[in-house]
Amino acid sequence: MKQKVTVFGSFVVDLMARTPHLPAPAETVKGSFFKQGAGGKGFNQGVAAHKAGGDVAMITKLGRDSMANVALDVMTELNMPKDFLFYNDDVATGIALIMVDENSSQNEIVIVPGACGTITAEDIKSVEQRICDSAYILLQLEVNQDANEAVAKLAKEHGVRVILNTAPYQPVTDEFLKGCWLVTPNEVEAEEMTGVPVTDLESANRAAKIFFEKGVENVLITLGSRGVYINTGDRAEIIPAFHVKAVDTTGAGDAFNGGLLAALAEGKDIWEAARFASGLAALSVQRIGTTPAMPTREEIDAFLA
Ligand code: ATP
Repeated sequence: MKQKVTVFGSFVVDLMARTPHLPAPAETVKGSFFKQGAGGKGFNQGVAAHKAGGDVAMITKLGRDSMANVALDVMTELNMPKDFLFYNDDVATGIALIMVDENSSQNEIVIVPGACGTITAEDIKSVEQRICDSAYILLQLEVNQDANEAVAKLAKEHGVRVILNTAPYQPVTDEFLKGCWLVTPNEVEAEEMTGVPVTDLESANRAAKIFFEKGVENVLITLGSRGVYINTGDRAEIIPAFHVKAVDTTGAGDAFNGGLLAALAEGKDIWEAARFASGLAALSVQRIGTTPAMPTREEIDAFLA
């Protein structure tokens, strides 16, 4: 049985340039490569969940500009419903300026959330029904936090399970965390949120305890190529990642969270859903890019068979 799910989050256009070295202040560097693509944690996760077979409502906000077409084109191509998009007439679509040093692979990123940082209470009101009809809602920390808080409150009041991917890290209130069904930080964010450096099962247990004390029901910490730590209160384990040759791990967390959402919506429990999500993420890290790297359901099933 497939249940409805919702992703509430950001859309930004990734503007990526490769350069021989990252520019120093006031320096201009001639780059060697440029690529534009759909991005934003919310959108990446929505695309991952949709391609994995989820019945996903993607809620985000775009500007009235050509950058918005980057989102719309992807959604058209993938046959994703556009009924849950908002527009800001005055604020541009969000962008991420990404500079990558082609020798060291180090990067510098500036994100301007733009329109997706201007989601209003009125916007949320108009998608209230879909949020309340969802079994799960997946949030991140890239849109305006007052909108996230309003959506989380609404979802919790209506028994919709809230999954909070705590990326990118920013401090959040205890009230926001309380009643979240699941938090999914990576190991860096887990440390930022709990003060506990997560290095192994024992330290992950200590970090999880702090989340539990704040009223979170389940804790999942992604550990990159080492896998994922899950604590459901009565069981805590690290599930290893699949061994693959990674070429680009950007967006691995988004792939994982989207996969988790799609699998949970099918009624899988958190352990089975994490295996599905690990498979999805393992496929995505073998490809370059974020949204184009998300695998189809057929590819995931074949990989996990
Ligand atoms: P990003 O910020 O780059 O999106 P993240 O830090 O949020 O990533 P990670 O913990 O790096 O997320 O990765 C999420 C999941 O993706 C891991 O738990 C794992 O299942 C999978 N994964 C990541 N890197 C690899 C890898 N090199 N090989 C196989 N699986 C991987």
